[in-house]
Amino acid sequence: MSATRSLVVASNNAGKLREFRELLEPLAWELTAQADHGISAVEETGLTFVENALLKARAACLGSGLPALADDSGLAVSALGGAPGIYSARYSGAQGDDQANNDKLLEALAEVPEGQRGAQYHCVLVYMRHAEDPVPIIVQGSWPGEILSLPRGEGGFGYDPLFWVPEQGMSVAELSPELKNRISHRGRALTALLEQLER
Ligand code: IMP
Repeated sequence: MSATRSLVVASNNAGKLREFRELLEPLAWELTAQADHGISAVEETGLTFVENALLKARAACLGSGLPALADDSGLAVSALGGAPGIYSARYSGAQGDDQANNDKLLEALAEVPEGQRGAQYHCVLVYMRHAEDPVPIIVQGSWPGEILSLPRGEGGFGYDPLFWVPEQGMSVAELSPELKNRISHRGRALTALLEQLER
């Protein structure tokens, strides 16, 4: 793998960008965010994480002329039939309002007892070499947990204060960034991507 690989990360989400910088730091790649290239958020018109990640990656390649890494991710709650799913960032209506999204989730699960509050974080990553790349690399990672009745912790972003990780006995917002990156849906997907890039 080249030590000077240039890559644009197709996201405007500060939490995701921070995690990608941490996760990719050991590789010493030249990493930029799409905003650095004046690329704005693409409309997420897909009905799956895969479709939306492809849309984001292609737009970032087009706008930057560089290979792009796109993530589409979200939370799927079993008692809600997999919602908010691909709509996780805009669950409450306003794009990226974490507090409003968490409030809505707690309300939706108000009558759901402990033991029936299982959920999964999902992350699909797309690596596209250029905008017409006919064979982008597509990988995914999942992370099972449970939805708490009250928020816990200050770290992470999005639904992390409500996402309980039974093996750790903590919410994601209580995990260190290093531990979250090692075991998260995004960390798992990135490990799979790096394995494919090594080939
Ligand atoms: P996207 O930017 O369209 O992929 O939306 C992702 C949304 O899913 C975020 O805005 C969060 O609401 C949620 N999400 C994805 N990954 C995480 C995570 O690691 N922690 C908390 N929330 C996440």
